[in-house]
Amino acid sequence: MEYKRKNVWLNISDDERNDLEALATDYMDFLNVGKTERLATSEIVRRAEEAGFKDIESFKSLKAGDKVYAINRDKAVALFVIGKRDFEDGLLIVGSHLDSPRLDLKPLPLLEKKGISYLKTHYYGGIKKYHWTNIPLALHGVIFNKDGEKVHVSIGEKEDEPVFFISELLIHLSKDLNEKKASNVIEGEQLNIMVGSIPLANEDDNPVKKNILRILEEKYNISEEDFLTAELEAVPAGRARSVGFDSSMIASHGHDDRVCAYSSLASILEVNGPEKTSVGLFVDKEEIGSVGSTGMTSQFFENTLLELMNLRGEANLLNFKRALKNSKVLSADVTLAEDPNFLEATEEQNTAKLGHGVALVKYTGSRGKGGSNDADAEYLEEVRRAFDKAGVIWQTGELGKVDQGGGGTIAYILAEYGMQVVDCGTPVISMHAPIELVSKADLYETYRAYKSFYENI
Ligand code: MN
Ligand code: MN
Repeated sequence: MEYKRKNVWLNISDDERNDLEALATDYMDFLNVGKTERLATSEIVRRAEEAGFKDIESFKSLKAGDKVYAINRDKAVALFVIGKRDFEDGLLIVGSHLDSPRLDLKPLPLLEKKGISYLKTHYYGGIKKYHWTNIPLALHGVIFNKDGEKVHVSIGEKEDEPVFFISELLIHLSKDLNEKKASNVIEGEQLNIMVGSIPLANEDDNPVKKNILRILEEKYNISEEDFLTAELEAVPAGRARSVGFDSSMIASHGHDDRVCAYSSLASILEVNGPEKTSVGLFVDKEEIGSVGSTGMTSQFFENTLLELMNLRGEANLLNFKRALKNSKVLSADVTLAEDPNFLEATEEQNTAKLGHGVALVKYTGSRGKGGSNDADAEYLEEVRRAFDKAGVIWQTGELGKVDQGGGGTIAYILAEYGMQVVDCGTPVISMHAPIELVSKADLYETYRAYKSFYENI
């Protein structure tokens, strides 16, 4: 009679527990190599190729069962398993994002102040700025050297590599600072990353910065000017770790949204010979509004779909519009998990609970569902039946108390074509903090949910 959420741990078999552990270990490996959208994209492509996917450029025609990938500027990627039915019957899409909140370097970042050299940053996505102080940071990205060669930079992840650091005022002298609002404790312009303190001998002007430039030239053959066109991102250094005496959770940077990206990848790699073309879509720039040529609004997905339709002789406007309109989507993005330490921000009954499975989120948005996709009851029911058929443990989620705030995903962008879309993802604690937390049980059910979507819708 009465509805109650199910605790995953109390409702799975010993065999399933073993599968869950194996999946969690593989997910942590994925997190450790995929620390930026670029690195995650190349890891997805590597795994897809291993599973028989081929670059769209290599196809002259398409047949049912073909496995295709398309890369968008090394920062987004789509995997397709071609279905037996025509494209106009619609596709099954699980769409996630690979970008996470972080600190990007400014175009001219190097600075020396009082004998310490820094890199200036501009933060990316929604962060609490003070979170990013006093933790080890790693740098990843690309920079073009003097010869115009693209150099991949990755420093701070290996045990024998140095890390980077942003300082914050000692407690002993924080009388005034402690009175400030949390949003102003550290200002954006104070997020300067310490990168060195040894001066070059016999130099009066910026001797530490010049020493850093000397090291960069030696190591990467780059000069200060090369930063102007570079893309370098600072993220927390270190590996994903199991959490708790019972190891039931995972702490890591980037669960939002790599936990859904990974789950979607793991499930589409197991799709073979589907009726409808199945898609794993991994986009960039969600955290700053899905803009830019690698974000969801770039039409990368639409253009790629049209190319695929062309390879099967189905590319005309009517078929294309029908393919879009008839598609069904899980917008695979994380939701918040109830934090027992901060119950005042959420509404108890409608907030996803840690360890109680993947969350279906009918609407996101803020203050009156503003900007939300708000999935319809008919589609929710269809998804429910698909999950229940596979025995997926799922719950519903909501992004906090009605008047407290909120958030958005890529859901509304695909819904513009008339697709049926619902948000469906893993509950996260400490979302957008440098290190976030998920339950291994919820990861497992997220993967099982996406798999059942491909199989049962
Ligand atoms: Mn997200
Ligand atoms: Mn986010």
